[in-house]
Amino acid sequence: MERRTPAPTPTALQCATCARHQAAAAQAEERRDYSRASDERVLLARHQQSAHGDAR
Ligand SMILES: [Zn+2]
Repeated sequence: MERRTPAPTPTALQCATCARHQAAAAQAEERRDYSRASDERVLLARHQQSAHGDAR
């Protein structure tokens, strides 16, 4: 299997799912699809809380 995503570091609150939501949000914004972008941001925040326990 070939993956280009860098290995996750303990300091970075990132994973493949984070990256996917961020990329989707950025893409949606480029298309001016702001409702989709905010959906992705909500999904990202929800994922980070449940998967990474980010309480900041
Ligand atoms: Zn994540």
